[in-house]
Amino acid sequence: MPTIADNLAAVRARIQAAAARAGRNPGDIQLIAVSKTVPPEIVREAIAEGVTAFGESRIQAAKAKIPQLPGKLQWHFIGHLQTNKARDAVELFHTIQSVDSVRLARELDKCAGQAGRTVPVLLECNVSGESTKFGFKPDEVVAALTELNALPRLEIHGLMTMAPFFENPQDARPAFRALRELRDRLQEQHGIPLPALSMGMTNDFEIAIEEGATLVRIGTAIFHPTSGE
Ligand SMILES: *Cc1c(COP(=O)(O)O)cnc(C)c1O
Repeated sequence: MPTIADNLAAVRARIQAAAARAGRNPGDIQLIAVSKTVPPEIVREAIAEGVTAFGESRIQAAKAKIPQLPGKLQWHFIGHLQTNKARDAVELFHTIQSVDSVRLARELDKCAGQAGRTVPVLLECNVSGESTKFGFKPDEVVAALTELNALPRLEIHGLMTMAPFFENPQDARPAFRALRELRDRLQEQHGIPLPALSMGMTNDFEIAIEEGATLVRIGTAIFHPTSGE
């Protein structure tokens, strides 16, 4: 059975190859190892291989796990966040990638102020129009960015999306391209830099890198490589 070290080496090689195909510097692509459902002792194996950034999607599980994994790690929240969990999220996480409403952003800003910190965030956008997905619709984020950017304790670094699942990952390309174009439009209209594009998971991260991803969120290929094959 392949080890976590083997899986990581394979994922890193694929990131490098995708970056090379796109003429991009692989150092501009940050790997977020999605450790949801993964017990701390397995997460430690990834830490031993030099992974420093992890993604979690549930506050309850993160509350139990994160304190068991001290060290210089960056924890990213990537799941749907209820407003009443904003305080926990600000206490536990370095970055919140899944800000999907103005109401949540206001609450995070308030909690960040009380905690005496600023919080890097991404705005989750639903660019594929799937009704089951969370996220701002493109028109909504265009309309909300001025207000969001004025929240003093949030640093908006860019956008995040989840593409629909396709058998053929090439089919996810339009969603990734749409996120990049939305980012370009927001930067132009508002004159604020939005360098981060969090897009691409196990099934489609190479396509996302070709379309400009700066963060890829990969769980299965690192921690459960045989499930889903
Ligand atoms: C679970 C999850 C991932 C990782 O998905 P894999 O297919 O396991 O790589 C990435 N992003 C989000 C938001 C997730 O919930």
